[in-house]
Amino acid sequence: MPELPEIEVIRRGLQLHLPDRRIEAVFYNGKKLRHPVPLEPMQKLLIGGKISKVCRRAKFLLVHIDNDAVLVIHLGMTGRLGLFPEGSALAPHDHLRWRLDGGLELRLHDARRFGSVRLLTAGEAMDIETTLFKSIGPEPFSDACSPAYLFAQAEKRKQPIKTFLMDMKIVAGIGNIYANECLFNTGINPARPAGGLSLHDWQRLLPELRAILQHAIDCGGSTISDYLNAGGKPGYFQIHFKVYGKKGEPCQECGTPIGMVRLGGRASYFCPACQKK
Ligand SMILES: [Zn+2]
Repeated sequence: MPELPEIEVIRRGLQLHLPDRRIEAVFYNGKKLRHPVPLEPMQKLLIGGKISKVCRRAKFLLVHIDNDAVLVIHLGMTGRLGLFPEGSALAPHDHLRWRLDGGLELRLHDARRFGSVRLLTAGEAMDIETTLFKSIGPEPFSDACSPAYLFAQAEKRKQPIKTFLMDMKIVAGIGNIYANECLFNTGINPARPAGGLSLHDWQRLLPELRAILQHAIDCGGSTISDYLNAGGKPGYFQIHFKVYGKKGEPCQECGTPIGMVRLGGRASYFCPACQKK
């Protein structure tokens, strides 16, 4: 499943190619996605409109149109967005296509169809934080997501710190991989109750979390043009994980075999020696 860094990398790639392109047509193969596809509203609000910018909130991509409508795309488990020359062969799971001027098509490919596409009018887009995103916490890179904020949110909570970090209501877009990695880097045991972390712990954990996300974005960012040109096929994702998926392998800090426990139903990898506290 794509996590926040992958979505941010896709956003950057789209932002390089989409602004100032006019949408000429929308095609939909009728296959159900997670939410009903707003084909008619898209034809009404998007065609003839020019894309102004591509933003991201949590794992949603926001394609802004010059009439202030916003196309909101979530890639779910297997969704991919790619740019193709108009008329090039379609793949079996290319469910939606937006034909752009300049002979290009933006295509949404999604084998498992957990992705979604919504369209917000200008008015709806203004309220997006209190409607569509009302249950989503601040972005990890934002000022609102501070050590003091996280410390206050975690206060008195007994749930494991790792589960807390992955709660979208607390902070947006921290998936399993990055929660595991940042806890390893700070020596914090993933099962430790979230409320037990001191403000000082948060002052160490948040910069680590941001650094890991930024590193992943940088790794993907260097090859983003290729990514889009290859039709959104992953392949850029060559990040070296320290604990994620490494059960039984020696810890690269101390050689102790990496352990695995299930927390909140999710596999949690850790070094029993380096992450004692
Ligand atoms: Zn270790």
